[in-house]
Amino acid sequence: MPGYEFFGQEERREVNDVLETGIMMRYGFDGPRKGIWKAKELEAAICNTFGCKHAQLVSSGTAALTTAMSALGIGYGDEIILPSFTFVASFEAVLSVGAIPVFVDVDDTLTLSPQAVKNAITKKTKCIMPVHMCGSMADMDALQAICKEHNLLLLEDACQSIGASYKGKKLGTIGNAGTFSFDFVKTITCAEGGAVMTNNEAVYLNCDGYSDHGHDHKGADRGADLHPFIGYNFRISELHAAVGLAQIKKLDNFLSIQRKNHTALKNALATIPEVSFRRIPDESGDSCTFLSWFLPTEEATKAVVAELKAQNILAGNFYWYVNNWHYIKKWDHLKNTATLNALHPDLKAAVMHHATKDFSASDTIMCRCISTAIGLTWTDEQLQTKCNQMVNAIKKVLSEQKATA
Ligand SMILES: *Cc1c(COP(=O)(O)O)cnc(C)c1O
Repeated sequence: MPGYEFFGQEERREVNDVLETGIMMRYGFDGPRKGIWKAKELEAAICNTFGCKHAQLVSSGTAALTTAMSALGIGYGDEIILPSFTFVASFEAVLSVGAIPVFVDVDDTLTLSPQAVKNAITKKTKCIMPVHMCGSMADMDALQAICKEHNLLLLEDACQSIGASYKGKKLGTIGNAGTFSFDFVKTITCAEGGAVMTNNEAVYLNCDGYSDHGHDHKGADRGADLHPFIGYNFRISELHAAVGLAQIKKLDNFLSIQRKNHTALKNALATIPEVSFRRIPDESGDSCTFLSWFLPTEEATKAVVAELKAQNILAGNFYWYVNNWHYIKKWDHLKNTATLNALHPDLKAAVMHHATKDFSASDTIMCRCISTAIGLTWTDEQLQTKCNQMVNAIKKVLSEQKATA
């Protein structure tokens, strides 16, 4: 699943190019850098690989979300609709631009329920932000139709779904903007890094300036740049971009390994009649970083988690329902709006309201879901062992439950 599993000679070589010149900054120093522009090269590779007109590298996926929101003009008073199942970075970014995160339920795609989105639209809604969780996609046709009908922006958090696609288009390139994370546990990594993708030149130019203190990058040197608006520093370094450049060349290989291992594991679990799988709006576009599956009840799911733990084979299996980072149930810091600095009282009240609503529709999905991370380095033998162990553990629990029923 994560690119760090295949860190090697290629990454070292790219990083060494930068170390040779010593120019670790992505802008300026035109002479001493001797033609080495790793960040620019990686941005061009992102455009090529994913099929978008523009890409802006930044320092993290979280920074990419903040940058994209700022570039799209989302801020004070605006509501952004996002799912109850995501990584904390999604709402951190919303708060960073002063907007209101409006959480809504997920359905059996583990992403935004289009009906829940419709129900949450108000006069203040500015943007819908699907989060393509665990390698696979939201129902983009339905969400695009809603955006069109209500004249809303569509921002894709594709941080977890690098290389996945929907009806032939790569995730992250379909909305007004989309983001990737290249943190250490993502499909490809820069160690730390992220990107905003867009087909809109004005949005791109905003990202380019915003992530570098508002520089317009039109001057002969940095000192001569103008600052048409206030920005921030979310720059990526040349060292990080160099790692990413080696990784992006390996992406096709990562994806094909994932697909092969995913298919084997899915076929194994599918032999158990009680197991069902996440609904995937475009099955052929799944990046297969995870296999997400359901058991019939919360009780059975908890028992399977306990059994996997008892057998010491829980590693790589995620029961998000009780996870501190990915599901709203455990986000007490958000529900209490525990910020270090004061928020406007209206924003604070809105955050608390939206974070403590009824998410029972999401609960009924998430309490029965386990996601199994798909390894890149599994041997055929390890894969076979994993399939057998998981199938046996699940069958054992289900038959025990039948016996006591
Ligand atoms: C990882 C992730 C992010 C944030 O990325 P970082 O690079 O770790 O800041 C945002 N959204 C989702 C869904 C993620 O999984």
